Amino acid sequence: MDKEDKQFISGRRNFMKAFAFGSAAGIMGLSANNLNAAATPYEAPSYAKAMVPVKIKNIKAITTAPSPANNLIVVKVETTEPGLYGLGCATFTQRAFPVVTAIEKYMNEFCVGRDADNIEDMWQAFYVSSYWRNGPVLNNALSGLDQALWDIKGKRAGMPVYQLLGGKSRFAVPLYAHAGGRSYEEVVDNVKKFMGQGFKHVRIQLGGYGGVGSSPVTPDFKAAGFGGERDIFMDEGAYLRAVPKMFEAVRKGCGEEVELLHDVHERNQPMDVIHMCKQLEQYRPFFIEDPLSPENTSWWKQLRESTTVPFAMGELFNNINEFVEPMVNHYFDFIRIHISQIGGITPAMKVARLGEWFNVRTAWHGPGDVSPVGHAANAHIDLAVWNFGIQEGGYFFNENEKAVFPGCPTCKDGYLYVNEAPGLGIDIDEKEAAKFPIHNRAPGWTVRRYDGTIIRP
Ligand code: MG
Repeated sequence: MDKEDKQFISGRRNFMKAFAFGSAAGIMGLSANNLNAAATPYEAPSYAKAMVPVKIKNIKAITTAPSPANNLIVVKVETTEPGLYGLGCATFTQRAFPVVTAIEKYMNEFCVGRDADNIEDMWQAFYVSSYWRNGPVLNNALSGLDQALWDIKGKRAGMPVYQLLGGKSRFAVPLYAHAGGRSYEEVVDNVKKFMGQGFKHVRIQLGGYGGVGSSPVTPDFKAAGFGGERDIFMDEGAYLRAVPKMFEAVRKGCGEEVELLHDVHERNQPMDVIHMCKQLEQYRPFFIEDPLSPENTSWWKQLRESTTVPFAMGELFNNINEFVEPMVNHYFDFIRIHISQIGGITPAMKVARLGEWFNVRTAWHGPGDVSPVGHAANAHIDLAVWNFGIQEGGYFFNENEKAVFPGCPTCKDGYLYVNEAPGLGIDIDEKEAAKFPIHNRAPGWTVRRYDGTIIRP
């Protein structure tokens, strides 16, 4: 384009602007004087504090492990407004250091100087500007940024984040607790304990994921010195036989009132899961979680058509697009989003809203490797969306975590409550956080068969 062309286009644009505005002004009956008034910049009223532009000044990662098994990562976004910052959960316990590198060596430079208000634009820019996407490490970093920007927006508006998402659909967030045990009797006793504390939903596991309770057998691979010292043995046949018996024991011991959940944790063969779920129908589970590994999604149709047991799925999904096909086909009933894996509040809200159209409810992932900031983010969405299902809350904050994260969500009578302060309502004490350094000793997910073959979790 040469100079004359540019001048012509520029002049034409100005003419069109003047013409359009003049026409509108004519329709509205504005005089030349109040045309000038209309052209002056909009002056925000004093209550509209969020109208003042705010830029991102600095981004950093804060790491801490107040519960030793869980490396927690929090993104702190500082702004040009003195004292105004946001926090977001970027926790990826098993690969914490690469996430810290992504935040400090890339995200900070990418974001500094940008407008803190434009969350969707920032999310899209960060998501696609690396060209390749869907990686869990960058997704965790992005999630921390996204939640921190929502935290900032809430603080600027003087409102808790759930208000920005539409306000409350319920007074508090119903939780499910985790009842484990080495025997059927122990599981029954623990379910009763949680029922006594007001929980209406309890997840039951015998001897941990894939476990069968006490009487451990020394697997052949351990005897042969194969694999790592901390590798876990899973007896698949014993597990598949034990789960229906556990449900039977809990229904007999605890009655019909309590809702029961169970996590398969993606470890079994699809046909074995189908067989087991058919046996569980008589005990009316609230949901069976993660029945298939991400590598086995092509079995969804057969699984769904074989049983009436409701399913929860999605904590290993990295991308919101992975939810579309199962929702359209009604393959599962509850969305298991891990808030720092999917990229934060912005994408989680999109999936939640999509679920409303397919009668799929939320059941956000809420274990110990979600930071209290992430638990708060989960709870703000839980309060706001209509198609909320249940919230995983078997994890209770210890004293160290409460000291590191002032304003943690609180649990009472089986319900989770957020701090009603503006934003996510939670803070971080960086001096306290520094007392609990992160490490590379986080529990792994190396599970093996009797012969040492790795089982995918
Ligand atoms: Mg799970």
